[in-house]
Amino acid sequence: GFKCGIVGLPNVGKSTLFNALTKTAAAQAANYPFCTIEPNTGEVAVPDPRLTKIASIAQSKEIVPTRISFVDIAGLVRGASKGEGLGNQFLANIREVDAIVHVLRCFEDDDITHVEGRIDPVADADTIETELMLADLESLERRVEQTRKRATGKDKESILILPMMEKALSQLQNGKPVRVMTPDLAAEDMRLLNILNLLTSKPVLYVCNVAEADAASGNAQTEAVAAMAEAQGAQHVVISAEIEAQVAQLDAEEAAEYLGELGLEEPGLDKLIRAGYALLDLITYFTAGPKETRAWTVRRGSKAPRAAGVIHTDFERGFIRAQTIAYDDFVALGGEVAAREAGKARDEGKEYVVQDGDIMLFKFNT
Ligand code: GDP
Repeated sequence: GFKCGIVGLPNVGKSTLFNALTKTAAAQAANYPFCTIEPNTGEVAVPDPRLTKIASIAQSKEIVPTRISFVDIAGLVRGASKGEGLGNQFLANIREVDAIVHVLRCFEDDDITHVEGRIDPVADADTIETELMLADLESLERRVEQTRKRATGKDKESILILPMMEKALSQLQNGKPVRVMTPDLAAEDMRLLNILNLLTSKPVLYVCNVAEADAASGNAQTEAVAAMAEAQGAQHVVISAEIEAQVAQLDAEEAAEYLGELGLEEPGLDKLIRAGYALLDLITYFTAGPKETRAWTVRRGSKAPRAAGVIHTDFERGFIRAQTIAYDDFVALGGEVAAREAGKARDEGKEYVVQDGDIMLFKFNT
């Protein structure tokens, strides 16, 4: 599955947020038997209002949402790239996730020590980013030398990847994370960059952790983070980890009431989960029938056989075609049969690029 790693300086609210996520996951687990929860990984359902719509039209008995994982990567401190704290361990953990959720402290509380002795989320973001850039710089400098030698010796793989390595290295030498050059890269270059598995090429989402009173409106610090994020082409969400910890212990009705009192429309975790999903550049397609309506996850740009493979590898291997109905057509026309009669059930082949919201039925050889 796809994983977001939660990082941040100590005492910014990571554990509080992560515990709220796993509580939510544990509550969901009763309904979704195949959900495993490891100590530092929580797998949560991705909220999607389209599921209930489709299920009511298809008269499905069950609804099965798709899921993503969050990994708690605690202990990142200034000097991590030089092995401070448990530096190397944590950097290794970050290598294994697909995207980074960076929690920033945007709340004042004299009882809770800030490691740098002041509340400044933009400076905090910079501290962590610097460690990640230093780690990338060191690893690339080591690899570039070897790769140059091999490229001179006509090693094909090295010749192919060397220009991307050098490009990423010069980016870091200029004090910039590799991430900022990714929007301009062609698909093939992106593939090469991903092989390098750098820390600063992973997409980032900033989470501003605020006091309860600021959850609906934000504050001066969240505005500073918003400006920083925008300048980087990154997203941010405002959340109060304390509120989320409370909400995770309430039933749905109590939670709605509590959130209403605070002027909030939905749990912050829902916002976070959806933002994480978007960050990973994932889209959802659905299968719908009398037994269940179910959401499935694929990377944006995936073709139909790959999407079929998410359900079962046999579906990918034996893929013939996929009956595909756009979500809007399915809802407007009132289901599969009507959509077929209206000519809105397309027969798509191997080259079809799956679109978010597609309702699919696969034909395959066994
Ligand atoms: P971590 O080190 O980043 O995992 O931080 P924790 O989640 O352990 O939080 C550190 C301390 O800050 C704990 O005592 C939390 O209860 C507290 N804390 C977390 N979020 C908030 C918040 O929004 N407001 C206040 N006042 N305290 C918070």
